[in-house]
Amino acid sequence: MRAEIISIGDELTSGQRLDTNSQWIAERLGEIGVPVMFHTTVSDDLAANVMVFRQACERAGLVIASGGLGPTADDLTRQAIAEMAGVELVQDDASLAHIKAMFARRKREMPASNTIQAMFPRGARAIPNPHGTAPGIDFTLTDRVGKSSRIFALPGVPAELKEMFGATVRPEIQKVLSVGGIKKVIAHHRIKCFGVGESDLEGMLPDLIRRGRSPSVGITVSKATITLRITSEGENEQVARSSMLPTIETIRQCLSSLVYGEEDDELQHVVIRMLQKRKLTLAVAECGTGGLISNWLSECDPSGEVFKFGTVVRSPGSGAGLLGLPGEVTAGDQPYSPDFAAAIAAHVRTRAGTDLALSIGPFPQADSPTSVPGEIHFALARPAGVIVKSSAFAGHPEILKPRAAKQALNLLRLEMGDI
Ligand code: AMP
Ligand code: MG
Repeated sequence: MRAEIISIGDELTSGQRLDTNSQWIAERLGEIGVPVMFHTTVSDDLAANVMVFRQACERAGLVIASGGLGPTADDLTRQAIAEMAGVELVQDDASLAHIKAMFARRKREMPASNTIQAMFPRGARAIPNPHGTAPGIDFTLTDRVGKSSRIFALPGVPAELKEMFGATVRPEIQKVLSVGGIKKVIAHHRIKCFGVGESDLEGMLPDLIRRGRSPSVGITVSKATITLRITSEGENEQVARSSMLPTIETIRQCLSSLVYGEEDDELQHVVIRMLQKRKLTLAVAECGTGGLISNWLSECDPSGEVFKFGTVVRSPGSGAGLLGLPGEVTAGDQPYSPDFAAAIAAHVRTRAGTDLALSIGPFPQADSPTSVPGEIHFALARPAGVIVKSSAFAGHPEILKPRAAKQALNLLRLEMGDI
């Protein structure tokens, strides 16, 4: 059984509100082994809604809709389902009594417009909504050749939708799955990588990203972090998870140190864990990244157990006295050289009294005669001396800072392996 999720509302199609319901429903369906093939978003327009429900029923056995069940003239989901199915709307007395009771509890008179919320396409069942006035709709559409689609329409209010999905919709879907002998779960695992571009990384893997492979492997990149997403199915969570182990092992072997973590790990989580394990302390001096590394590290180490000191050097001269940088390092175009990154790392390590210090130089100035265009320098000062790395930069300005910050953290991660 494959599913389609429909989100209804002008506020969604106009971009004023983010559709979080679809994401939430898709995750819940994945947990019970129902693959979602389509997400559709539609405005509060009756003809468009009828078209969308009709199309969904043609291509999915399970349709879950949210929104458009309120009492106002722009709430059209019940009318759309009735029109698509060619049935009339009929009143459900129990639902009307519930809506009236909700108003009585709030010590308010029920406006006449709310009676529409007790109207259902003929043949539908009401899905109880204990905390709201809009009951959901459970409707099965059967076409001329006997193929049927089950529609669950829920209110858009996320809290009500979640409660109703858990209490009624999920058990109903599971009932259908167990009658059909289909009982499975879909499990996901994410492997996090950093250090190469996504096509280079794909080239390092044997044909894993191929469509139709099981377990499937997807690849996404966000601000230079590459995520490999492994998805597998099984009759239960354990079976699904163990069937992805050989794929995970292959990925780890092929990518070796490009893999830095898994699931929600960011480089800063891994770096803080490594520092804690080795009982090493760290100071950071940032030019180009304006404090981004310090911010990330302090979030992961709120008590300052290992990340002891962070400083933002806005212009090379400004911190010179404080850091004890020699004049020749800060003069002229020197700040754009590897030597400047090395000098601030070494000086910050001494001043802060930490085991390690990481520095990142300024982004090169386009008009500087001596700086290499598009090169930025990182340095790591450690007991055994200072290591400097330089990296070429190109890309959208929004990505430059996080990518540079990650490169500096990655240098620290890789070098710490030997400390
Ligand atoms: P409705 O059921 O269409 O009257 O929507 C009720 C409330 O839920 C409104 O505040 C909507 O903005 C919100 N809402 C509707 N659909 C969604 C959605 N897909 N994701 C998040 N919020 C939604
Ligand atoms: Mg709406």
